[in-house]
Amino acid sequence: MENAATLSLLENIVSSTHGVDLSKLTVLGIESTSHTFGVGIVRVSSGVFEILVNEFSRYVPEKGGIHPRDASNYHVEEAPKVLHRALSKAGVKLSEVSAIAIALGPGLGPCLRVGATIARFLASYYSKPLIPVNHAMAHIEIGKLLNNLKDPLVIYVSGGNTLIAIQRKKRYRIVGETLDISLGNLLDTFAREVGLAPPYVVNGVHQVDACANWGEDFIDLPYTVKGNDLSFSGLLTAALKKARKAKSRKELGSICLSLRETAFNMLVEVSERALVLAEKNEVLLTGGVAANQFLNDKLKSMALIHGAKFYTVPADYAGDNGAMIAWNGLLHYAHGVVVKPEEAFVRQRWRLDEVDAPWLPED
Ligand code: AMP
Ligand code: MG
Repeated sequence: MENAATLSLLENIVSSTHGVDLSKLTVLGIESTSHTFGVGIVRVSSGVFEILVNEFSRYVPEKGGIHPRDASNYHVEEAPKVLHRALSKAGVKLSEVSAIAIALGPGLGPCLRVGATIARFLASYYSKPLIPVNHAMAHIEIGKLLNNLKDPLVIYVSGGNTLIAIQRKKRYRIVGETLDISLGNLLDTFAREVGLAPPYVVNGVHQVDACANWGEDFIDLPYTVKGNDLSFSGLLTAALKKARKAKSRKELGSICLSLRETAFNMLVEVSERALVLAEKNEVLLTGGVAANQFLNDKLKSMALIHGAKFYTVPADYAGDNGAMIAWNGLLHYAHGVVVKPEEAFVRQRWRLDEVDAPWLPED
């Protein structure tokens, strides 16, 4: 990958004064914040950036939601296989890696600890620098990288997070977020509780979308926007109450349709306000729910109305993955951000806006 934004980022990095050798830099990133155990390896060599590999294994519960203990047991079993696959596909030995990046949060405690334990061990055993990565920031930066963006309005929607952010003074500032559950959690919990899931997504289509195809009518459901924040829990409760009384597939379909439309419209409203106020001309949708075609269409139309260009993230990089941790790790490492293994604690509630992003502009 050799594009203008990457090169300007790299030039910015090259001019940093942290004594990191940037002529050839290989970073291995580990992701384990929730249902995915991922290992990605990225490399910069003579000014060319490459994602060498993005291997992952995703935990799908047989029934119910993601239980942190079950997901973490899955990670313990999968980790050696995923790590081995990543290294052999990339043709890289651990001893050749320049640094190890680890997503320390936000996420589920037991899952985070599996990745953190492995990363701390590898960093200690191979004497490699360890780089702490905020999972939300990694979702944003991979989206910017793949779309060649400099300063987008960010809409980050996933299984654990829902927020709107802009970059300002070397940090991402949150200009709208959910006050309770995430958008992904809303869709997943509804699908599960009415017996449509798991699996939640089949051939790239969420079960709520599949069910919405059966519906015809729009039903009024709670639409809760507070200031520029969102609340989905009342919507979930009301939709479930109606679904339990549904007498036909068509009725359930109308509830799925209305749930999706209400939730997505709420997100479009806060995104639109943020876009107009922040005067951005790029909009980036990232996180697992970015795979949703209906949400893409709605946000794209909104962006167009305001003369902004809309960008999304390809499926393999939209959901949780190791390559995004490696890329964000590389950015941090080039700016001297490292952590001692014995101080690399996991942070289940590590907010995006608490983390410095030294490669971002001053203003
Ligand atoms: P992440 O936590 O970033 O890996 O994202 C996982 C979330 O993305 C889960 O809530 C999934 O149900 C959701 N998701 C994945 N694909 C889709 C899709 N096509 N439509 C809606 N949600 C999706
Ligand atoms: Mg995520």
